[in-house]
Amino acid sequence: MGGTAVETLREALRGRVIGPEDADYDEARSIYNAMIDRRPAAIARCADTTDVRAALGYARESGMDLAVRGGGHSGGGLCMIDGALVVDLSDLRWVRVDPASRTAQVGGGSQLGDLDHEAYGFGLATPAGIMSTTGVGGLTLGGGHGHLTRAYGLTIDSLLAADVVLADGSVVTASADEHPELFWALRGGGGNFGVVTSFTFALHPVSTVGLAVTLWEPEHIGEVLRWYREFLPAADHDLNGFFATLVVAPEAPFPEELHHRKMCGVVWCHTGATDEESLAKAFVPVADPAPPAFHFATPVPYPALQSMFDGLIPKGLQWYWRGDFFDRITDDAIDVHGTFLDNIPTELSTMHLYPVDGAAHAPGPMDTAWAYRDAVWSGVIGGISPEPSEAGAIRDWAVGYWDALHPHSMGGAYVNFIGADEGAERVRATYRGHYDRLAEVKRTYDPDNVFHHNQNITPANG
Ligand code: FAD
Repeated sequence: MGGTAVETLREALRGRVIGPEDADYDEARSIYNAMIDRRPAAIARCADTTDVRAALGYARESGMDLAVRGGGHSGGGLCMIDGALVVDLSDLRWVRVDPASRTAQVGGGSQLGDLDHEAYGFGLATPAGIMSTTGVGGLTLGGGHGHLTRAYGLTIDSLLAADVVLADGSVVTASADEHPELFWALRGGGGNFGVVTSFTFALHPVSTVGLAVTLWEPEHIGEVLRWYREFLPAADHDLNGFFATLVVAPEAPFPEELHHRKMCGVVWCHTGATDEESLAKAFVPVADPAPPAFHFATPVPYPALQSMFDGLIPKGLQWYWRGDFFDRITDDAIDVHGTFLDNIPTELSTMHLYPVDGAAHAPGPMDTAWAYRDAVWSGVIGGISPEPSEAGAIRDWAVGYWDALHPHSMGGAYVNFIGADEGAERVRATYRGHYDRLAEVKRTYDPDNVFHHNQNITPANG
């Protein structure tokens, strides 16, 4: 894309078009995962839907490769592509809550923290992920799970409608009544079908929640996981708790003697126990598997829970991750977790098992494109380091861990936890029996596969 082409696009857009000659090009092309260092031809910071249409039209007419950037959090950097025109939604950050109907309209480039903050003002929330800087766009289109999953389901289960700019530049609203097949596909099918400029969500009464963190010594990982695999699925849906293997961060609330030590643990969110007394009662069972090395429980405003990891893992770290769904945690899988906690390569590396049961099991298997309503956990292995020199080590650890654990999984992963380098077979495994239906929707709405920088669903053949 030469200078003149950038100029043409600049004239068409209200938002800025940033090219390699601009002083802020490097900042504009940087994304959450610092392992990704790509040089797009230009970045179109769209100011509104008309800008999105203009940028798409420009790419279509000039034959340029196109990428779409929401919050910039995808592990493999799907939103930032060498030589492409990036439709950057970062300026579409706005939220409008309607307390009467308990709904929120959210700009397509918003971050989770934008939604959490505004909805909290009305004592409301939508279930989403566990970091405030993640994009609402990519997270929702993949499915979205987090602290409220067992209570209120996946993010897509609260999605009521989406405004979508399609590959041909037309704009549609997808909902249960309008373009229902597209609406079905958007709920789990990723960024395959168009650019979502606005999401409408149902909100739920969530304000103060009970946060708890329990850590156990690594030698207890067997007892803890055998207890956790029974305890959580049987617990009321107002209790959520993701299991983690980790190295304790050298900061409050952890006591100094635990800093830098390998541990296993659970991060809990209780929407039913929200004061000190009921929290103390609710977490009596954490002593059942083994005495915890640390247990901390406190009521917090929901947005505080949602942003508690922001400082620990800021933008600019090296990341390599892989995932899989699990319907059980087998004894053999527990041995794998123990081994890979022992050889964890860096202090930030971690493995999480996010619950996707409870209210997330309420919708039928065919209701949305999310193809694993029978999964109980969505697992992710994250190799993380601030040091580029450790990129190989974190990748090797994550891949070795995944290779050992995968035979104990259901075969596919949460689409947002697949790496960009894992190949088409992994995308098929993610969508199982839904793949062919998604390919039909793709043929209807994006027959030329304009939106292909994602976990790609290829259009069904004529
Ligand atoms: P981007 O990289 O901007 O986009 C990802 C993909 O979505 C791209 O293909 C892009 O083209 C497409 N896309 C984004 N926005 C739009 C839009 N508006 N319209 C059309 N296409 C769009 N996931 C969870 O479910 N729960 C979690 O708790 C969770 N925690 C995470 C924590 C961290 C630190 C990170 C890095 C990721 C986490 N994720 C979690 C995964 C997250 O959901 C994905 O990385 C997701 O892709 C991020 O979306 P994004 O918009 O920020 O990313």
